[in-house]
Amino acid sequence: RAAASTARRLLGAARDAIAVEAEHLGELDAVAGDGDHGIGMLRGLNAAVGAADALADAVGVRELLETAGDAWSETAGGTSGALWGSGLAELGRALGDREQFLPVDAAAAVTAACTRIAELGGAAPGDKTMLDAMVPFQHALTAQVDSGADLGSALVVAAAAAEEGAAATAAMLPRRGRAKPLAERSLGHPDPGATSFHVIVDTVAGLAS
Ligand code: ADP
Ligand code: MG
Ligand code: MG
Repeated sequence: RAAASTARRLLGAARDAIAVEAEHLGELDAVAGDGDHGIGMLRGLNAAVGAADALADAVGVRELLETAGDAWSETAGGTSGALWGSGLAELGRALGDREQFLPVDAAAAVTAACTRIAELGGAAPGDKTMLDAMVPFQHALTAQVDSGADLGSALVVAAAAAEEGAAATAAMLPRRGRAKPLAERSLGHPDPGATSFHVIVDTVAGLAS
């Protein structure tokens, strides 16, 4: 169960990375939102890891990620939890029950997950949401893999694109979510959801490369 055990390991590492950043993410969300982004992400990831741990070792990557994603959505509360949970479940469905996959299959599954998140949230790039890190990440990953890069190095390039995308949100005004009414206050501060997206993909890239 190679793919499933990799997914378990990456989920745990993402949870640990978000635990380290939770306070900072909360502060970013308190600038114009309700301040719960760090605890919400941590609650969701703890639920995802707990649900994955409760599954038998023999479970494949599709069931693992669907179960973890559902637990994340149900437990995290908040906009980001619903989006991350659905994205993770979609990632599992798109990967399917294979044990090994080619870089192009992984990139296609990431694209399916990102498409699901964009559809559910209805946001567009430039709205100052997680999409501003997610879309550059997905595009860079696909471009790297299409040009023949291995998955590890493609993820490193893609995570750098997410970092740049997240940093660029500091200059944007939020047009979605709870930060919208106090949009002006958030000028000069990066979007919390774009920032946590970068934290997670950076962790994944660091372990995969
Ligand atoms: P809530 O706003 O419900 O308290 P969080 O604080 O956990 O949820 O998450 C806030 C983040 O969710 C924002 O910083 C933004 O990145 C993301 N977000 C909000 N609305 C949307 C949306 N419609 N589409 C995509 N991402 C969104
Ligand atoms: Mg919030
Ligand atoms: Mg909230």
